[in-house]
Amino acid sequence: MIELPPLPYAKDALAPHISAETLSVHHGKHHKAYVDTTNKLIAGTEFEKLKLEEIIKRTASGKEHKKLFNNAAQIWNHTFYWHSMAPKGGGKPKGKLADQINVDFGSFEKFHEQFHTAGVGQFGSGWVWLVFKDGKLKIEATSNADNPLAHGETALLCSDVWEHAYYIDYQNRRPDYLKSFLDDLCNWSFAEENFATARAQSKAA
Ligand code: FE
Repeated sequence: MIELPPLPYAKDALAPHISAETLSVHHGKHHKAYVDTTNKLIAGTEFEKLKLEEIIKRTASGKEHKKLFNNAAQIWNHTFYWHSMAPKGGGKPKGKLADQINVDFGSFEKFHEQFHTAGVGQFGSGWVWLVFKDGKLKIEATSNADNPLAHGETALLCSDVWEHAYYIDYQNRRPDYLKSFLDDLCNWSFAEENFATARAQSKAA
């Protein structure tokens, strides 16, 4: 049984950049629906007692469990997305993550531009991610439910570019939504923690 995790802040905490109405529908209806569907699909199967990450990894390849992968990955993606934002977020990363961004992208401004361009350019529904793989940071856009976990990569930060993430507040203006995500909402402390964990794991491996 997979539970719907609560939002890590109040529904109106990201306003005016993301409204309480958007968070209410996005978390209370979309995220919840993925949880409900996943629970129906795993009931009485080999997946029933597995952790969410394990279900995602085991269903990531092949067509056999596509529906389960889509729903399970969307649960994980949304939880990761809520934590990728914070009230009074934005600004720039600090410490080792800031240094690594300078090494791998040239500058924070270049990272900002590439993340924005990748999110705007993702055709149709999907996600844009900052990931860490083989000692390097990179930006990736994925379609529908696909995510870095399915490809053995570590996610540090993500933004949802499905229309349901921004349509109430921005209509079709995905570029404005993504600019606000980066400048006003993005939770660098979360990304810094994920980066520290990823570095520790890659050293231990
Ligand atoms: Fe979404």
